[in-house]
Amino acid sequence: MYQGICDIIPIDRVKFDEPMSRHTTFQIGGPADILVVPNSVEEIIKVLRYCQEMKLMLFVFGLGSNILVRDKGIRGVVLKLGEGLKTISIKGNQVEAEAGVRVSQLCRVVAREGLSGLEFAEGIPGSLGGAVVMNAGAYEGEMKDVLSSVQAVNLKGELFEFNPEQMQFGYRSSIFQTCEYIVLSARLDLKTADPEDIFATMKDYAWRRREKQPLDMPSAGSTFKRPSGFFVGPLLEQLGLKGFQIGGAQVSTKHAGFIVNAGKATADDVLRLIAYIQEKARQNMGVELHPEVKLVGEE
Ligand SMILES: Cc1cc2nc3c(=O)[nH]c(=O)nc-3n(C[C@H](O)[C@H](O)[C@H](O)COP(=O)(O)OP(=O)(O)OC[C@H]3O[C@@H](n4cnc5c(N)ncnc54)[C@H](O)[C@@H]3O)c2cc1C
Repeated sequence: MYQGICDIIPIDRVKFDEPMSRHTTFQIGGPADILVVPNSVEEIIKVLRYCQEMKLMLFVFGLGSNILVRDKGIRGVVLKLGEGLKTISIKGNQVEAEAGVRVSQLCRVVAREGLSGLEFAEGIPGSLGGAVVMNAGAYEGEMKDVLSSVQAVNLKGELFEFNPEQMQFGYRSSIFQTCEYIVLSARLDLKTADPEDIFATMKDYAWRRREKQPLDMPSAGSTFKRPSGFFVGPLLEQLGLKGFQIGGAQVSTKHAGFIVNAGKATADDVLRLIAYIQEKARQNMGVELHPEVKLVGEE
């Protein structure tokens, strides 16, 4: 039924019934009907037109480090940018990078050029596109602090350029979470500094992550957004939930703010654990916890 997609994207970059557990850092998720990896803006626009003609739902993935895919998988097309569109160009303090670039790679490239401002993102295991959409942040920094513009395409294939105000950044949120745009590339405004100092800061952040976070286990990072006045990890510890497990989904024993896949976890296990934690936090502490992780797929 879907063979027409191969007239648009070469067959080696199209997969049918692809288990999404292979494309999420949680290593969880049922199959997507079609997964495509476009290598250019032209190919993205062709996929958008194909989806419109065939009346198929489209889901955009970066590197799947903030996504939980339900066990029944995804009906429609997954367009994965984390593997395509990866160029970086630097002119003075301005960096232009495509959405498929790994944030960790971008951090290293700009550090070598003596450009400071992106150190906070060292260790965030996503693509630049995903980091823009999520307004990813750590160690007092956020993507919004360094972005001067973003190029995106809407579902009709029309191109737009967004300035910082238009991007409506908030805590782990941006206009791009309306799912009406695909982020193609971003321009970053950085400051000149000594590469040695930049690398030293990055090294310190990487060390702090290794010390605190369960990086040896599959997860999607912090499960919940930080509620005002609380830190999620200590809050869940106080509730006695550290190490609590439903099926294969576990509140990390190293950092309670992370749910980890302790082995063969299903999305259903994770969702039941999330609901359990939310209920406990509401009942015992009067705190509403909202997931940071994006949930997709057939219910
Ligand atoms: C161990 C670990 C540590 C983490 N630490 C941090 C941290 O310190 N700070 C932090 O903020 N996050 C952290 N995260 C979460 C995650 O890495 C970030 O949210 C990251 O920015 C997501 O990027 P991604 O490419 O994986 O996006 P995905 O997870 O693939 O996608 C996230 C959302 O963005 C959308 N999206 C992705 N790319 C595009 C695009 N090009 N156009 C339109 N929509 C798109 C998706 O549809 C989805 O809604 C961590 C995750 C893990 C596993």
